[in-house]
Amino acid sequence: MANNYRNGTSNRSSLAKTDRPLSVNSNSKPAVKSKSFPASGPRKSSPASLGSAAVAKDYAGVPGRVRVAVRLRTRNAEEMVADADFGDCVELLPELKRLKLRKNNWDAETYEFDEVLTEFASQKRVYQAVAKPVVESVLDGYNGTVMAYGQTGTGKTYTLGPLGEEDPATRGIMVRAMEDILAGVSLDTDSVTVSYLQLYMETIQDLLDPTNDNISIAEDPKTGDVSLPGATLVEIRDQHSFVELLKLGEAHRFAANTKLNTESSRSHAILMVHVKRSVEGRDVAHSGEIGNNSHMVKTLKPPIVRKAKLVVVDLAGSERIDKSGSEGHTLEEAKSINLSLSALGKCINSLAEGSAYVPVRDSKLTRLLRDSFGGTARTSLVITIGPSPRHRGETASTILFGQRAMKVENMLKLKEEFDYKSLARRLDIQLDKLIAEHERQQKAFENEIERITIEAQNQISETERNYADALEKERLKYQKDYMESIKKLEERWKINQQKQGSDRIMVRSEDDCSDVASNAKGSMASIVGELTEVKKLLLKETQLRKAAEEEVNNLKIQVAQWKRSEMLEDEAHQKKKLEEEIALLQSQLLQISFEADETRRRLDRGESGKIPGGLDSLTQVRQPQLKDAGNGEKASIAKLFEQVGLQKILSLLEAEDADVQIHAVKVVANLAAEESNQEKIVEAGGLTSLLMLLGSSEDETIHRVAAGAIANLAMNETNQELIMTQGGIGLLSTTAANAEDPQTLRMVAGAIANLCGNDKLQLKLRGEGGIKALLGMVRCGHPDVLAQVARGIANFAKCESRASTQGTKTGRSLLIDDGALPWIVQNSNNEASPIRRHIELALCHLAQHEVNAKDMISGGALWELVRISRDCSREDIRTLAHRTLTSSPAFQAEMRRLRIDY
Ligand code: ADP
Ligand code: MG
Repeated sequence: MANNYRNGTSNRSSLAKTDRPLSVNSNSKPAVKSKSFPASGPRKSSPASLGSAAVAKDYAGVPGRVRVAVRLRTRNAEEMVADADFGDCVELLPELKRLKLRKNNWDAETYEFDEVLTEFASQKRVYQAVAKPVVESVLDGYNGTVMAYGQTGTGKTYTLGPLGEEDPATRGIMVRAMEDILAGVSLDTDSVTVSYLQLYMETIQDLLDPTNDNISIAEDPKTGDVSLPGATLVEIRDQHSFVELLKLGEAHRFAANTKLNTESSRSHAILMVHVKRSVEGRDVAHSGEIGNNSHMVKTLKPPIVRKAKLVVVDLAGSERIDKSGSEGHTLEEAKSINLSLSALGKCINSLAEGSAYVPVRDSKLTRLLRDSFGGTARTSLVITIGPSPRHRGETASTILFGQRAMKVENMLKLKEEFDYKSLARRLDIQLDKLIAEHERQQKAFENEIERITIEAQNQISETERNYADALEKERLKYQKDYMESIKKLEERWKINQQKQGSDRIMVRSEDDCSDVASNAKGSMASIVGELTEVKKLLLKETQLRKAAEEEVNNLKIQVAQWKRSEMLEDEAHQKKKLEEEIALLQSQLLQISFEADETRRRLDRGESGKIPGGLDSLTQVRQPQLKDAGNGEKASIAKLFEQVGLQKILSLLEAEDADVQIHAVKVVANLAAEESNQEKIVEAGGLTSLLMLLGSSEDETIHRVAAGAIANLAMNETNQELIMTQGGIGLLSTTAANAEDPQTLRMVAGAIANLCGNDKLQLKLRGEGGIKALLGMVRCGHPDVLAQVARGIANFAKCESRASTQGTKTGRSLLIDDGALPWIVQNSNNEASPIRRHIELALCHLAQHEVNAKDMISGGALWELVRISRDCSREDIRTLAHRTLTSSPAFQAEMRRLRIDY
């Protein structure tokens, strides 16, 4: 290996050899210029990266040099005998963290390391010095690497591998690291998964699944993250299962090596531990409470997870393979066996020298360890050496490797990201809950209607019964009165009869008494009179009774009617209220499902960072289709759509409740962002409703969202004409004049900018004040608004230029007529590139027609055109400006006059 170093032993001055007097302070590292590596991980001693929250804000990274410890093995039985007459080739000075390598009896070289571990160092001490800081880093969200390098038989596997089942004190780094990891995570929210692999002759084999013997390495082209998608990943929940897994891996490794006729000392063993932790305290309330839906929708934020990877590498023996093939390999095989290790040496050389090119891609090992050296991981290397003077050469080469590695600087970076998957899961659950709640309310509504109907029926029959009773009572009373009257009459009749009888007798006995006769005549007359009277009374009574009965009947009918109408009114009112509630819930459901869908889509695209912001994503730039959305979401949206219906949603735009209206317009805007919905929305009258909302609503949110939806719909030519015929320019202009919010202005400007790109609408648009409205919005000064204004002007200028070329337009540009030129000139070198680009194009279009030249020259546009033709970073615009300038006689003349050399 030593021969592979360009700066080998012959040029040691650049190495960490210390010939000058050594500092007494054992912490100082005179040989190493780079910042010293904190002794115990970022949590304890590095002020720059103390708490995890502090680190979370600092995505720029923390410098972290590769830390190197050297470990000396005791003499083994063979060495005791064979080297009995010789001293060890090395001498350790652990307090000074130095190692002396004897050259001969009188000369030695001294090297300094981060840690010097003597033959008496316990496994525990080795773990604490070498691996513990890395493990702590991994728990904090940084990648980490622990690697053992050294000649075969010097203790690499002893340092990393022992399970310590018989003697716990012998436990190696792998087992101890997992113990600390399991103690540091909470398995309710975090996860630990493990892969175990062997790399031999540039082939990666899965030690957890021997049939999987050619795993390929995948690299994320964006982040450069390296992964092994084919490797078995086992979730670890306790120490015991991890130990069993290591045993299984070892057994497979032994079997594989027997089969391939290799020694394990020729292969690299790689353990990968993936730790995924959710960050507490960042997860803003996800109250699943129903009834607080709108609030809930606003506060949903994806939780944050830290994903870190610990890689433990037991490298192949560093001794050179005898190239004669004494191990039964051909020369080619020998090269291939050595390839990864020598590539690692070359990479570390390049990194240590700070050279621009690091040959990472030369081998699988260096590709896998790309993050460990010169990357973002915290890396700790333990180099193992033996004491025997017979292996002095290999020992020296190992020491030099370690010295080189100490010069490698990594930039530690926190691996923190939004957990969109869990957010999507949570949204799914909430969606289900809302659907269930909706069903429950629907059911309750139906039950309520049923209850009211039954109650009403009961009341009606009870009223009917009451009236029947009352009527019967009345009838009986009248009957009784009638009978009594009849009785009285009969009695009086009887009395009269009797009176009449006695009178007749008297008439017969006193025949000739004329007084009596006249008396009798008189009493007859009075009886007849009385009878008539009684008859009259009877008649009157009968009439009265009839009238009373009629009255009662009328009353009865009236009361029944009154009762029914009162109940109906009540019912209608209740129904309306419930319907409104349902509509509100449905619109919220739809919105949530859209957001869930959006989230899923971003997730699938692997985006991170910004949370899908519903309306914020409503730019005039068309949103991608939901093609890659999960089928589950699609189905639930389709279901909701079916349930709610576009007509219903559109009708909610006119709802009286402002909340409902806002929700409805948001839903419509979300739908309008999808090209596939636009035709349906317009067909169902949605565009008209949205335009009307601009005019009728006072609410800024509604203005913003409606304008956004109109901007999206205005991307289609047919819709553009529709907007114009429905007085859209007037409405948009009024909104533009009244709005303060830059986002509203951006949406309005975006809508008008789209209209500006329609050749057919030029005159009408300008005639109805579209250009003036556009220019009016620059008062806001927000770059997003200015970019839309510039886009509109460029669109307009392009259409105009086209019309002029075709001869359908003559005369000066309407843009110049409407006073746009000063703003154009003023912003043609705006520092925001979207604004600048549009304006540059607009200027080129205007300049193409000689009629505009005079105004452009007097307005200062010529200077800008010259500048564009010289400095514009886009070649096509530069060429266009140049062509325009050279073909215009007016510009040419002016430039000659100004002595502009062109
Ligand atoms: P390598 O993996 O580097 O080839 P091993 O770890 O297999 O070396 O060690 C070779 C032998 O030396 C093993 O028998 C191991 O038990 C023993 N050994 C290595 N280092 C030590 C140590 N520090 N203390 C005791 N025995 C050791
Ligand atoms: Mg080994």
